[in-house]
Parts: sequence; structure tokens; C-alpha cells
Amino acid sequence: MSAIEEVKSRLDIVEVIGERVPLKKSGRAFKGLCPFHQERTPSFFVFPESQRYHCFGCGAGGDIFTFVMQMERLEFPEALRLLARRAGVMLHPPTPQEQEADRTRRRLGEICGEAARFFQEQLAGPAGATARAYLAQRGIRPETVQAFALGYAPDRWEALSSHLRERGYSEAEIRMAGLVVEREEGTGSYDRFRSRLIFPIRDLQGNVVGFGGRALDETQQPKYLNSPQTPIFDKGALLYGLDQAAPAIRREGRAVLVEGYFDVLAAHQEGFRNVVAPMGTALTAAQVRLLKRMTRRIYLALDADQAGVLAVRRGLEAIREAMDERLVPVPTAQGLVRFERELDGEVRIVVLPAGRDPDEVILADRKEWEAHLAQARPVLDFVLEQIAQGADLETARGKREAVQQALPLLSEVHDPVEQAHYVQRLAHLLRVDERAISAELRRPTPGPRSGARLPAEVDEGTGALAGRPMDREEVVEGYFLALLYRFPDLWEALPAGVDALLSREEHRVLLGMLPAGPSISAGAELRRYLEDLLNRFRPELSPELARRALQDCLQRLEALANERERREYAEVLAQAQEEGNRELAQEVSRQLSILSQRRWEIAMPPPRRLFPDARRYLGDEEAQGES
Ligand SMILES: [Zn+2]
Repeated sequence: MSAIEEVKSRLDIVEVIGERVPLKKSGRAFKGLCPFHQERTPSFFVFPESQRYHCFGCGAGGDIFTFVMQMERLEFPEALRLLARRAGVMLHPPTPQEQEADRTRRRLGEICGEAARFFQEQLAGPAGATARAYLAQRGIRPETVQAFALGYAPDRWEALSSHLRERGYSEAEIRMAGLVVEREEGTGSYDRFRSRLIFPIRDLQGNVVGFGGRALDETQQPKYLNSPQTPIFDKGALLYGLDQAAPAIRREGRAVLVEGYFDVLAAHQEGFRNVVAPMGTALTAAQVRLLKRMTRRIYLALDADQAGVLAVRRGLEAIREAMDERLVPVPTAQGLVRFERELDGEVRIVVLPAGRDPDEVILADRKEWEAHLAQARPVLDFVLEQIAQGADLETARGKREAVQQALPLLSEVHDPVEQAHYVQRLAHLLRVDERAISAELRRPTPGPRSGARLPAEVDEGTGALAGRPMDREEVVEGYFLALLYRFPDLWEALPAGVDALLSREEHRVLLGMLPAGPSISAGAELRRYLEDLLNRFRPELSPELARRALQDCLQRLEALANERERREYAEVLAQAQEEGNRELAQEVSRQLSILSQRRWEIAMPPPRRLFPDARRYLGDEEAQGES
């Protein structure tokens, strides 16, 4: 048994959560006030049988590892360490290679910390006069400069690097930290950041891991420059300001995403502390995962031009051109709706007047900013309205084009009640019969979901190879991950929101590390766990068959998740009705009816034996049929 499994087998989730959240028995489950959102009556449930928890208020849920990660803001390896200590499970000591990688990361962290101090001193000193004046002109006050540890990189080729060398850091280390650029000719290097205002970028724990620099001279290119990817800096997995914003995001139950550094500074300065910014990339899955641990409600602040572009659903490249290389947090409307599903929450669009950035609005009039936030529209409402406004409603052709434009968005909505709502809405906006839109929507479209649904034999079974009984979820999830790790190309074909179907946090973490696979920093245990898993499941398939096996796995994963959730929700519903908690009963039965409807869609194809290689995991028993 791996250490991860051993920790799980020794600890009881009810006990671990019960120490943080007072729990009361409710039928076969336990309930309490959700620690992840504010509520007066309990909608947070812990299920001893599946060793999982779920909140019907905010949607938080997972296993014992998820809980500790969410509660303590830890990454998986740290959560594992904490729980292993408690369970008395010895973890493998790190390998020499891992120790070395750890040492490097620590060292790079120190260098970045030292560089940040150096930049800060420069900003405060005589060299920083221009930068200070620029900050003052942008309305940023000294206490904000202090709180975000802003700095200045002097206009010299080796100011920082010679400072760091004096402190004993080697040329190679400084280069690895991304602070210098190699000279094209000859040898040596020069400072990456020169004559720039510096924004230190911190991780969730507040350690400086990289930098952003803004040009102070209008002729200097590019206007914004970031640290390159380093062993500690991955801009796609960080959000600027999140370390400072995290408590407010949890407290207020929402995060506001803006475009740039100055927007974050201005917002925090004026007391809007739940504001963060991606750094020049479209939102990544890693960023969504970060936010998801704190909230399921995201507000996206766009200026009117961007919002308009968003609505016509052009690709990222087109937006880039149109916006003159400005940073657009999310590429397309469809991307946003999908992102909403991945978040399992709600995305709202805050529309600002054309040409005005959040920082201008906030600094000019905080009431105006509040008003814009209050008027934020759910993303789909917003986009459908934009589509209707752009359509020629006088002609049949114009209406048809508008419907065609909206269909891919509507099909992203899986909740049938919600989908029906938006169909109605669109019908009203376009003045067409809603039955016509529904009919269009039901027409099969090519795509991963409606494509080949080929049941394999990867579930039902005892996995005799493993030397201990495995449950069906474990077999299907294991086979699924093994497929993805053996055929990395398949990763691109994954629909959004798959991680929500996995029952185990370690599996979600491994899925999140694709396609590159776990890095050294993922920790020895997780990498051992994966090795184990890849030994246990060895799909021997052609790429084409692998693709079909993946579709099959997806279907089975959803069926299993559906079964698990229906069982748990039914239990909660029965208790809520018995206790006369009407509000909860209503919410749970709403979710339950979605699950029940989905169940029939998933369970359609009969099981057939298609993948001979899967038999090895299944024993000889015929599948027991879908439940
Ligand atoms: Zn909650």
C-alpha cells in the first residue's frame, strides 16, 4: 500500500473535520456550518462511508486531503505530510535528487527575496525619483508601495547582478532565477530588469518567486516584462495579489479579476481587497484550481471594448490584435462558460466604460466601482444580450445567425434547468419560438461528448494484480490516469470539469499535472504513487483505440460520480425533509434531479467487451451492468 493510501486508511474524515468544524450526526452523515462560506444553517455534510464531504451552499467538496488543502491553503505534498504525521505513517525520505531540487528552490527563493529588497532600496533612494513620481502620478500612495513591496530596477547593466554576486550568489544561480539575460556575443550576462518599476510576484504563502517590470520610458519595449519560467516561477499558476487577497476572497465569497498590476494596487489601496490579476495570460486551469480553493464566484472586470469583443467570440489572437496587445484575462465567451463549469461556480462580467481601466475608475470614484460591481451580469446573460444586440432581428437570416452563434454556448450548460432558462431568454431576446432553439440544441453535434461512446471493461473488478481489493472507482480512475500518462496527446481532448468526477484528491492532483507529469516539487510520495499506478495499469492499445478507451473512461467516471452523489444527496434530502429544513431540501432535490436526469443520458450504451487489455484488471466476471 502506498503511503497515500495508508494515511487514508488510518484516518477518519469525520474525526479530522470534526476538530475544525463542530459536526452533528444527521442520518448516516454528519453536518455542520461550512468553513468555506458564511452560513447560519448547516449545508456542509461529511459522509463516513465514502470518506468525503460536500457543501450544498458553496459546492466545496472532496476527500480528507482536499479538506486539509482548502482549510490550510496547502499543496498536496504538505497536506500529505501533515496527515501522515497525524496517522503515524512514515513517508519515504526524499531521494538525493529531490533534496538537491529542494535546495535549489530554497536558494532561488532567497535570491528573489534579496533582489526584491534591492529593488525596494533603489526605489526609496535617489535613483528611484522618476519611478516614485510615476507612482504618485498614477495615484499610488506610499503605504500601498510598501504593502506590495514595489521596487525600482536602475538603468544600469549589472546593478542587481553585481549586488547579488557580492552576497555570494553564483552566476549560474542568478541566471536560474531569471534575473539576468545571456549576452548574445561573447560570454557573461546583464540584468534582465533595467530602468523599470518592479512588481515582486509572490506565491500564496507570500514568498517572492518572480518579478514584473513596467517600462518608465515610453520608448522602452516591451512595456511590461515578466520573469521567465524558473523552477519556482510559473506565471500560469500564479495570480498577482492573491497572497494579500486570499482572506478577503474567502470572507466575501468572491474574487474580482482585473487585468493589470495597477488595477490590483488601486483596488487594495481603496479597500477592495478581493482583487487579483493574471499576468498577461488567459486564465489557466492551474489558476482556476487556485481560486477554486477559496471561492466559486469570480467577477471579471473588462472594459466595454473588451466585453464587446468577448461577445463576438473571436479567438485569442484576434482579441490580441484588436486590443493592441493588451492583456485579456479570458479568451472567448465559450471559454468562459466552460471555465464556469470547471469552477463549478459562477462567473460574472463587470463592464467598465470603454477605454477606462479599473484603476482609473476606482481612484476617481469608489462608488462608481461599487456600482459597476453591483451591475455585474452572469456571463451567459451578458453574452446572449450582446449577441441579440448585434443581430439583425428584422430578417430570418439574421435571427438564424444569432441562434447559431449562441448554440455552442448553450450546449456548454449541462444543468437542464439552467439550460432551459437560457433557451427561454434567448428566444425572448431574438423574438423566436423557444421550441425552435431547443430543437437545434438537441441536434447532435460532433464533439467529444456525443462522439464515440464505446464502453470498455475498465470498471467492475477486483484488480487481483494489486494484491488487495480495489473498488470500482479506484480501478476506473487508475486506468483513466494511466491512459492519459501513456498517451499524453489525449490530454487535449479532455472536456472541462473532469477533475470533479474523480473521487480522490491524489488523482485530481495527478490529472492537474498533465501533460508534463509531476515535477520534482510534487514530492516523492506522489511520484511513487504514480509509478505504482502505471505499473498496475498498462493499457496496451493503438493510439486510436486509446482515444476510444478514453471516451469510455470518461463515461464511466461520470456514471460512478453520479451514482456516488445520488446516494449521498438522497441521504441528505431524507434528513432535511425529516428536520423540516425546506431551503436545504429544495436545493438538494434540485441537484438530485439534475443528477437523475444526467444518469439516463450516461447509462445508455450497453456494456460490451472491447478492450482485451482491460480484462487483466477485471478478472473473468462479466460486467454486472450499469447501476
Ligand atoms: Zn460552503
